[in-house]
Amino acid sequence: LLGPAGEPAPTIFAEMTALATRTGAINLGQGFPDEDGPDEVRDAAIAAIRGGANQYAPGRGVPVLLQAIAAHQERFYGLELDPDRDILVTAGATEALAATILALTASPDDEIVVFEPLYDAYAALAALSGARLRTVPLRFPDFQPDLDELARAVTDQTRLILVNDPHNPTGAVFTAEVRAEIVRLAERHGAIIVTDEVYEHLVFDAPHVPISTLPGAAARTLTISSAGKTFSTTGWKIGWVSGPAALVDAVLAVKQFLTYVNGTPFQSAVAVGLALPDAFFAGIADTLAAKRDLLGEGLRAAGFSVSTPAGSYFTITDAGPFLAAGQDAAEFCRVLPERAGVVGIPVTAFASPEHRSEYAGLVRFAACKRVDVIAEASARLRGLA
Ligand code: PMP
Ligand code: GLN
Repeated sequence: LLGPAGEPAPTIFAEMTALATRTGAINLGQGFPDEDGPDEVRDAAIAAIRGGANQYAPGRGVPVLLQAIAAHQERFYGLELDPDRDILVTAGATEALAATILALTASPDDEIVVFEPLYDAYAALAALSGARLRTVPLRFPDFQPDLDELARAVTDQTRLILVNDPHNPTGAVFTAEVRAEIVRLAERHGAIIVTDEVYEHLVFDAPHVPISTLPGAAARTLTISSAGKTFSTTGWKIGWVSGPAALVDAVLAVKQFLTYVNGTPFQSAVAVGLALPDAFFAGIADTLAAKRDLLGEGLRAAGFSVSTPAGSYFTITDAGPFLAAGQDAAEFCRVLPERAGVVGIPVTAFASPEHRSEYAGLVRFAACKRVDVIAEASARLRGLA
């Protein structure tokens, strides 16, 4: 977690956003939208602040949000949750992940099986808790796990299987077969499934399937999501975790000493968002799918090979043709602003030392930007050839 001189090393996202700011390059690195989300949600936050919702929230979350999360899970997925016992509001999905991992793992005897490339917080949080990570690689361009590799990774030492579906950084959506295998392995080895579904509404080809809807899964699954992506409010840091009451209680026991509570007026605004009509949710997926297509075309025209993501903000490219001898994607991304005026994130930043070489040529670009921004970035990247 620390740099060579003991200083806190910036995350790859902070580093690349700072690089974009310093060089004036287009930031297709860090995943945040460059346009605001729905007026109703932002207006509700302003009204809540003006209306005096400015003190500590109740420990599990503001009741209207707990009820809205339960209603959302029922409406989209047919899941029945008790708003008073099965849900905990957190400071973004990040705190939900932190409190969950800290609550449920403690030592290297507790293994966390996770898919790689992996979101940077997962490895950092495993390090904080002392748990050992076992990674299952996902490979360009379809990024589905090999079921034998998955089966070998899950053992009786496995405490958690940490899933991220849709997946950051690859944009992969797991197949029904992969999801079923995860549940089967968790049951066989007594593991808990923790599933980070922050991109649940940003899927392009088929409706999102939460792993907790699979037969046998709900009793052993904690599901994490966040308002950041769905309502374009990444700065509000309102997330939640839901699942069996006993597991949620364990997470609450840790969360209460991380932040105690968070974001009172934003919580009630997110409740308004979760109750928006279906057309809103279909609209954000369609808009992002069109941006994914535009970015994919632009990257292909610039000479990259591109994977077609089924969800999330992100597209992965193979930058192989543009790498100088001995250069990897991390070095390429550091000079890309100078060479082309664009910032991307090297997939090596999401890799374990063991598998880093498999991702050495891959770069992640974010599609959650304005159409004119994507078009301009594509034009700039064509200049690389
Ligand atoms: N998980 C994944 C897979 C993410 O991509 C992100 C953020 N982009 C988070 C968690 C963190 O979400 P939040 O900002 O709500 O903490
Ligand atoms: N999750 C976002 C991404 O993957 C950024 C989050 C962050 O900066 N920590 O780009």
